[in-house]
Amino acid sequence: MPDSSALPDALAQALGAGAVLTGEAIPPRHHSDWSGAAPVRPLALVRPRSTEEVAAVLRLAHAYGVPVVPQGGLTGLAGAAVPHAGGIALSLDRMNAIESVDAAAATLTAQAGATLQAVQEAAAERGLRFGVDLGARGSCQIGGNLATNAGGNGVLQFGMMREQCLGLEVVLADGTVLPMLRPMIKNNTGYDLKQLFIGAEGTLGVITRAVLRLRPAPAAQVTALVALADFDSALALLGRLQQRFAGNVAAFELMWRDFVAASLQWQSLREPFDAPHAFAALIDVTGRDEEALRGAIEELLGEAMEAEQVQDAVIAQSRAQAAMLWKIREATAELPTNMHPPINFDVSLPMAEIGRFAERCRAAFDARWPGHIAVFFGHVGDGNLHISVDGGTVGHDEAGVERIVYDTVAAFQGSVSAEHGIGTHKMPYLGASRTPQELAAMRAIKAALDPKGIMNPGKVLD
Ligand code: ZN
Repeated sequence: MPDSSALPDALAQALGAGAVLTGEAIPPRHHSDWSGAAPVRPLALVRPRSTEEVAAVLRLAHAYGVPVVPQGGLTGLAGAAVPHAGGIALSLDRMNAIESVDAAAATLTAQAGATLQAVQEAAAERGLRFGVDLGARGSCQIGGNLATNAGGNGVLQFGMMREQCLGLEVVLADGTVLPMLRPMIKNNTGYDLKQLFIGAEGTLGVITRAVLRLRPAPAAQVTALVALADFDSALALLGRLQQRFAGNVAAFELMWRDFVAASLQWQSLREPFDAPHAFAALIDVTGRDEEALRGAIEELLGEAMEAEQVQDAVIAQSRAQAAMLWKIREATAELPTNMHPPINFDVSLPMAEIGRFAERCRAAFDARWPGHIAVFFGHVGDGNLHISVDGGTVGHDEAGVERIVYDTVAAFQGSVSAEHGIGTHKMPYLGASRTPQELAAMRAIKAALDPKGIMNPGKVLD
């Protein structure tokens, strides 16, 4: 195998000098991602402009046997985009075109480096919407969203990224381009290969283009913030909403009091209710007519109040008020500056167990680190709970906190990652959510598609 130190020159020859950066010229933001993993400067950062250039990079990296770490918007929380010191970081930044929108078929074709927000805006321009939304929308890229099978706020209505993808173009480890861009919902022709690359976190190939499914934009959407006394009331309210507004409950985000209190403090916001409550649920419902929808939500909340399932409620009267209510939930962007550092969890549980799960975790934290700070919140309508623990208040014992959370996840038969992926952060715990047989099948697929092990090595599978 040729000497890897010659690879950056070979890449520059193939792509042009401007597309390959080395040493000090590599911007520090490419040394790590939002996971907080220790920064690593790669051998080279390559910035291809086309699928052909991505293929050229991989052909060379394959010949040299050098690791390749694909990088999107670098907003991942599991460490999948952190480069290797002796490897290539492959940024999709320059491949950011929205290539086409087919309004009649409700599909959109984009290059991997297009931001989620650019996709959302291109859909909105044609009176359509894209079904995935998350806080990092302005920075995260559609290729990364697909590679990590991102979830976020719209899952309740439309599912995760996997459900939004009709076609994919992928470059394999040896530079082979795998075009799978036929934009059809029905295509029962053997293995659905594109699904292998969605959620693989760049360990099987590089996603370069995608055909995405769009949805009709709702004519009306109403947001409400509801105060609740306990977790079971939240479940009862969700059941009521699903029954009344079947298919139109767009968000059901539950926030424990610790999260609401921290969010209000961090962002200097006013208490939304007259008194603090144990839980607050942020709800989006879509429909045809805003006034009628608001009336129907008011009526439903009135019934729930009579049944003592709801303690108080605010229904947004405008888009601006809805944005203010959402601001409470979007305090997650404040976590890195207000926790020192945050230790983040993204777990999935049988829905009815989430309340008890949270209580058990909190009790265990309290017993070991009295006075610790932790916030509980999540997309509870999807069975997805997030926990962020302030590392400074638990003696920086990240392993101790993880042990408590993941042992409790195992006891409740949950999953160690609902939507953030495995990366490096959750790799030691993958076995808690996957059987040895599943892991063996994953390894067989990895070996078949990437026999030299150059695609994002050391991520997902060890
Ligand atoms: Zn989330």
